[in-house]
Amino acid sequence: MDFIDLKAQLRSIRGAIDARMQRVLDHGQFIMGPEVAEMEQRLAAYTGAKHCISVASGTEALLIALMALGVGPGDEVITTPFTFVATAEVIVLLGATPVLVDVEPDTCNLNAELIESAITSRTKAIMPVSLYGATADMDEINAIGAKHGIAVIEDAAQSFGAEYRSRKSCNVSSIGCTSFFPSKPLGCFGDGGAIFVSDDALAKAMREIRTHGQERRYYHTRIGVGGRMDTLQCAVILAKLDIFDWEIAERIRIGRTYRDMVAEIPGIQAPAVRNDRTCVWAQFTVKTDKRDTVVAALKDAGVPTAIHYPIPVHKQPAYQSLCRVVGGLETSERLGQQVLSLPMHPYLEAEAMHMIVDTLSKAARSS
Ligand SMILES: *Cc1c(COP(=O)(O)O)cnc(C)c1O
Repeated sequence: MDFIDLKAQLRSIRGAIDARMQRVLDHGQFIMGPEVAEMEQRLAAYTGAKHCISVASGTEALLIALMALGVGPGDEVITTPFTFVATAEVIVLLGATPVLVDVEPDTCNLNAELIESAITSRTKAIMPVSLYGATADMDEINAIGAKHGIAVIEDAAQSFGAEYRSRKSCNVSSIGCTSFFPSKPLGCFGDGGAIFVSDDALAKAMREIRTHGQERRYYHTRIGVGGRMDTLQCAVILAKLDIFDWEIAERIRIGRTYRDMVAEIPGIQAPAVRNDRTCVWAQFTVKTDKRDTVVAALKDAGVPTAIHYPIPVHKQPAYQSLCRVVGGLETSERLGQQVLSLPMHPYLEAEAMHMIVDTLSKAARSS
């Protein structure tokens, strides 16, 4: 059994992928070819944001977003400790300080009520992560940002396709950043990512930063990066967009069934999703105090699992002295001990899901 079955997806769209890739090989414009603009237009329309700027990865999207806002040494960015390290990494890379506030125990997302106490005159941005595929309380977070004149960057690497109050993830705050890493809800065949923004000046800055800060060829008005997404990877995304709506519907349907089944098991806490949003289940992550037992039983039954994430950012060796911690981060620390991700993808069959849930149930009830 695969943790995320990308082969089943490829089988269903192989023809479209081959045709799209063939076209790129024929025209030969491997950097900034026509598929790049085509994908950016399709994705901007999908999210409702005015601009989509494709970039080399999700990490690069976050980095370029912060650079466009002018974040630098001495600045602070408020974010969650319970995330993939890239969220904090880009802040530190720019010489700024990640300011960490705790998450909600049920959704594992940034606790909006704790943010305002972390704001100082140095705060340049708030960066909530839409962990596992559902957004945080974006309207509450946006209101805090607006009140203090601070941008809100959604790290939507795990939530492309999700909705919050009828708006699409990536278009629920000033800036949205996503990743097309192969195992994300919308993935290419390598690294890729995108930034979504409706502010024209920010979009212009991001496009320039993406290509070495050049305003026109060999004329550099900013410090930038080599941060473009390959034409071939954009072609792959375009082919995958044909089935994306169906895949998102399947993710939501499978996630609901899975959650209802898991909710019956004593000792296992099913993931929580608020009523005003959808989750696209980049990860299907339960909580349990018997994680080691459960992991061993699943492994014996041939079911792969993963832990997203075992160690919060402020406990990571490279980061512990570089973050400012506001309040306790006990919830994040406890979640690191409890969370367990199970196989999840749009091609997960009912039979496999039943086997996983049965194995989980037996392991949780024993010992
Ligand atoms: C995957 C991920 C990233 C980084 O995306 P890459 O494309 O791998 O650089 C950033 N933040 C979160 C929450 C992620 O899950």
